[in-house]
Amino acid sequence: MSTHKQIFLCAINNILSGICQEDCKFCTQSVRYHAEIERYNYKKIEQIVKEAKIAKENGALGYCLVTAGKGLDDKKVDFVARAAQAIKKEVEGLNLIACNGTANKEQLTYLKEHGLDSYNHNLETSERYYADICTTHAWSERYETCENVKSVGLALCSGGIFGMGEERKDRDALLDAIASLSPESTPLNFYHPNPALPIKTRNIALDEAVSIIKKARKLLGEDRLLMVAGGRELLFTGKEHLMFEAGANAMVIGNYLTTKGHAPNQDKNMLATLGYEVATNCDTLKY
Ligand code: SF4
Repeated sequence: MSTHKQIFLCAINNILSGICQEDCKFCTQSVRYHAEIERYNYKKIEQIVKEAKIAKENGALGYCLVTAGKGLDDKKVDFVARAAQAIKKEVEGLNLIACNGTANKEQLTYLKEHGLDSYNHNLETSERYYADICTTHAWSERYETCENVKSVGLALCSGGIFGMGEERKDRDALLDAIASLSPESTPLNFYHPNPALPIKTRNIALDEAVSIIKKARKLLGEDRLLMVAGGRELLFTGKEHLMFEAGANAMVIGNYLTTKGHAPNQDKNMLATLGYEVATNCDTLKY
């Protein structure tokens, strides 16, 4: 049995959706694949604050402000900083995370100064396989952004996606690369196929997903957040105990960037039925 009786909940807000020029083959937000998703420019800050309050009421401790696109620019960094400040002013007790792609130290420092606690940038897959799934930017740039996050003193949230056609050696290489960054938090995503995308199927079975969670927990250490994020509903519905027993101690609640999740109450009932509590602060973590 897992020693993690408390489960940390994290919610995501897609504050700029679906208008990215990059060609990541797993991503419906790339304009190249014409996936049927909602696409919009910056959400209003009042709306973001309202949604943050709802997430908090639903038990979220982490709140992630996500923008589509390759990385931060002056306009984006200013907008995310203003959104973070507004949330910090009106909603108590949320750990704020930004997920805005490639970022330099100056931009990350600016976000930190404006209330962000953490930055999410996933390595996505192994360095070897990355060239197969994205040709518009390099894996090394992703790793560098993660190093930048650490160097300015923000908490690093970094993970990846499994089941995009990679081989077993890529999964191991990805987990090793993530562990080499020693992130405070790691989201494990399991590929969610969409007919518009070049990657048509998900090549991962439940037992493989469980073994990835176990390996990740072993590599990352007991005091880190290990989150099952995208694809949880496809693989683990009705079998959530497997992911917690394997070492996960966090999950995303509510909707994802472009796909729907379970209703938060359904997930909270599931946790209660399994005997887990929803965490109310991050004190027990190395955060
Ligand atoms: S850079 Fe980000 S938003 Fe753009 S296609 Fe890749 S994963 Fe999607």
